[in-house]
Amino acid sequence: MSGACAVAQLQRNPSQATLMTDGLDSNVIARNVRTVLDRIRQAAIRAGRRPDAIRLVAATKTVSPDRIRPAIEAGVRILGENRLQEALPKVTVLGSCDDVCWHFIGRLQRRKVKAVVGIFQMIHSVDSVELAVEINRRAEEAGLTQAVLLEVNIAGESSKGGFAPFELTDALAAVEGLLNLSVKGLMAVPPLTTEPECTRPYFRAVRDLAGSLADRGLGRARMDELSMGMSHDYEIAVEEGATLVRVGTAIFGARHA
Ligand SMILES: *Cc1c(COP(=O)(O)O)cnc(C)c1O
Repeated sequence: MSGACAVAQLQRNPSQATLMTDGLDSNVIARNVRTVLDRIRQAAIRAGRRPDAIRLVAATKTVSPDRIRPAIEAGVRILGENRLQEALPKVTVLGSCDDVCWHFIGRLQRRKVKAVVGIFQMIHSVDSVELAVEINRRAEEAGLTQAVLLEVNIAGESSKGGFAPFELTDALAAVEGLLNLSVKGLMAVPPLTTEPECTRPYFRAVRDLAGSLADRGLGRARMDELSMGMSHDYEIAVEEGATLVRVGTAIFGARHA
């Protein structure tokens, strides 16, 4: 059985992102949304969780507003974007927080924070104290409190950002005084494995980490939200405690051939 949990060779190259004009039609997108929502519900029930404790974030990088609309009509309420420049025109077209809210799920550069704060209801990808400080500063300027998740590099991958698990206690202490920042929980992007089931231990590790942080006392922070699970493993993530699953391909189809 050696190699059963090998890391998949599938490449995710965000620089290749282009707005997709072909691909799945509206009916297929709507049906995919209903399927994903149903599978989330079933996974929740299997795990003895309340289905309404899990929210779907449709990951819409490279997806045009015309193809996002049928997803919204089929029940998507949160859109996750990775890049500010790509998101802004979509926010203009699709609106913000009437029918649908936006979450920022990609790596965030400090110089983009000013524009991100106030548009995105939640930032999933806070990967340094410096970034948290900047978000807090911009949120204070804007007179609001920004909800964030701390990204944890749960598998210790050198290619990925995020806090190492052992850094989180200090990180929480460091952001405790940032009063315009509201830490809601953790986000993780585990390695993409050949078998979805191979990701389960990572999801469990994220949940256990959130639990042990909470046991040690969180101050103003919360560990209510766990953002984990993507197209190939969101059901397993739900079984392991995810409250936010970020699903792109299973709704909109492959991003590029
Ligand atoms: C693209 C993306 C997703 C969705 O990935 P799929 O495999 O297409 O479901 C989830 N999270 C992040 C951070 C992403 O960049």
